[in-house]
Amino acid sequence: MPKYFFDPRQITGDTVTVEGTTAHHLLHVLRMAAGDSVTLCDGAGTDYTATIEATKKVQITFKLTNPQKCLTELPVRIVLYQALPKGDKMELIIQKCVELGVGEIVPVMTTNCIARIKDVEKKAARYQLVAESAAGQSMRGIVPRVSPAIVFENAVAQIDGSGQTLVTHELEQELSLVNALAPTDTINIWVGPEGGFTTQEIVTLKRHGAVAVSLGPRILRAETAAIAAVAIASLKWGAYK
Ligand code: SAH
Repeated sequence: MPKYFFDPRQITGDTVTVEGTTAHHLLHVLRMAAGDSVTLCDGAGTDYTATIEATKKVQITFKLTNPQKCLTELPVRIVLYQALPKGDKMELIIQKCVELGVGEIVPVMTTNCIARIKDVEKKAARYQLVAESAAGQSMRGIVPRVSPAIVFENAVAQIDGSGQTLVTHELEQELSLVNALAPTDTINIWVGPEGGFTTQEIVTLKRHGAVAVSLGPRILRAETAAIAAVAIASLKWGAYK
């Protein structure tokens, strides 16, 4: 059974009201009714046992008991700077990277992107929903944010020297991602579009302190690279000892 998220601003005392997609799903797909329980998470790392007290058409009032700290979050924050891929690949990237523990995904418009920022803007709400559903399914303690898409220059401007910034580059032959990862609180991972980063973009990223890393001698598709990179980073620091 997945868990569901609620907006902590909707709590009064020990009850919370949930509406929208989650309420619709629980009431009309899973056919839950008064007395039934689910796990609800406040999106800030605390899970509750939530028992349905009352329902309306698409609204549920739950009683919250048994608050518990959610133990599934990584000790490190991974931010994925993902160049806009073609078609609906972004949804796959969001779903899989959220399962793997990503903290935030920033869609970036680079020179070789075929998709346009406008296409992604229309999908912003959908992307956040994909993140929420993947977070619930994988028992995360937060719903990772999918930021609004930004152009390359603005994304580069976000590199502020805190944490590690690693750009996956198929031409890098010396340093692998797994070896580049150092203990830190934030890992910013950059992944290019189908056409790759331009040489100029790699130079710019390096000038801002990014380190180019390899994911092996094969050329991976953008979505494979994103999922593999987040998996490597999350398992390096977040696996059980
Ligand atoms: N168009 C390029 C490949 C781009 S692959 C070419 O044909 O050579 C899409 C993105 O995935 C790249 O920009 C890079 O960020 C990442 N990537 C793919 N394979 C990689 C590898 N072996 N090592 C590091 N990054 C890789």
